[in-house]
Amino acid sequence: MVDRSADLDAPDAVVQIVQRLEDRGYETWAVGGAVRDALLGGSRYDWDLATSAHPDVVRKLFKPSYPIGIQFGTVAVRGIDGNIYEVTTFRRDIETDGRHAVVEYADELDEDLARRDFTINAIAYHPLRKELHDPYAGQDDLDQRTLRCVGEPALRFAEDYLRVVRGLRFAGRYQLSIDDGTWKALIEAVPNLTRLSGERIREELLKVLSARSAAPGLALYRESGALGVVYPELNGVADEEWARILRAIDGIGERRTALRLAELFGPAGPHIEEMMTRLRFSNAEIRKVTALAKALAAPLPAAGDVVGGRRWLREVGRERAADVLRLQFAGARARRAPPMERTELAVQARVVLSVLGSGDPVAIGELAIDGNDLKTLGLPPGPEYSRILESCLDAVIDDPELNDRERLLEHVREQM
Ligand code: ATP
Ligand code: MG
Repeated sequence: MVDRSADLDAPDAVVQIVQRLEDRGYETWAVGGAVRDALLGGSRYDWDLATSAHPDVVRKLFKPSYPIGIQFGTVAVRGIDGNIYEVTTFRRDIETDGRHAVVEYADELDEDLARRDFTINAIAYHPLRKELHDPYAGQDDLDQRTLRCVGEPALRFAEDYLRVVRGLRFAGRYQLSIDDGTWKALIEAVPNLTRLSGERIREELLKVLSARSAAPGLALYRESGALGVVYPELNGVADEEWARILRAIDGIGERRTALRLAELFGPAGPHIEEMMTRLRFSNAEIRKVTALAKALAAPLPAAGDVVGGRRWLREVGRERAADVLRLQFAGARARRAPPMERTELAVQARVVLSVLGSGDPVAIGELAIDGNDLKTLGLPPGPEYSRILESCLDAVIDDPELNDRERLLEHVREQM
């Protein structure tokens, strides 16, 4: 057991919550991600607390407070800084099946730490005594940049297969090498990832993608075989293409999740929608990512070709233009395209941007006529309408001057 003192500079709000619980005789510790990140020199506000107090007690001591996942014994408490802190009663697993756990309250911090996944996540810190309690030597693993399971790896993965992907994420995020025993068990557990729900796989992936550099985590997904199990659609990607995709993803800001997803799922081609549905992405997210992936295939206009610029915008959509250009630039850097090609791309982008700025119509909704005008011409409403309006748009794309109500009605009459 490794105990030592350290000042992790917990926020005053955390100290105050712990103080109130300890004053009533309830042992209370900070645990998990905040302790780990503080030891690594980072700081964050989401300090999670573990306590011997049961949820009803926590709720009485702190008002307002809200039960969140009461079955897990977690109460959300508002700190004096206005932030929400999660206070969770010590617990132990009594039954696990690889996907869910049945838990009960425990009396001891040590029982609570024993059910945590990795040693670096099983370090407790007492914000009043400024003392670390680290029964699994997580600090040594942090110092040596090692990811290691708490206890017997094969058993720990079998209790909850989500730990497989969590481990890949932590190793990627903190550049940890995975301990041999943990790695061997992890690889053996990979085929069981099919038992996890799409939601959990998706949430994990989004956490990987939210890191500034997502490449190390994604590389581990592939190296461990997890990628092929949870995203079989990506199985055919060759090494060189994969390396390019990782560079492209890291070349896109981490807040631009849809762009990163379009890069990652791009090779799934026509299967992107089905894949994202399985992962329970929302319809809006699916639409956005599939549209971006598809738009990447639209040929950019040559220098000076404004008509081509309008065509491109029509195909890609005004609202997606900036994102598609971002993907194009990230793609060129990732391909290590020669300078000539990049200059060319910049010129092409400028054509598109000038069309965008001109306000010239590139969509049916931007035409000077609509379905009502067709009705006044005596045309019976029906699917013909969209064909006629598309034909008007064809004409307006070639010559924006045509976008005038009278001239367009004339154009329609000619067609009738
Ligand atoms: P992050 O920075 O991603 O939030 P975190 O360490 O805070 O990292 P959480 O998922 O928020 O991760 O979980 C908090 C803590 O709860 C973890 O540090 C770990 O101790 C424990 N934990 C979470 N999920 C599991 C799990 N599936 N198995 C075992 N322990 C877990
Ligand atoms: Mg967390």
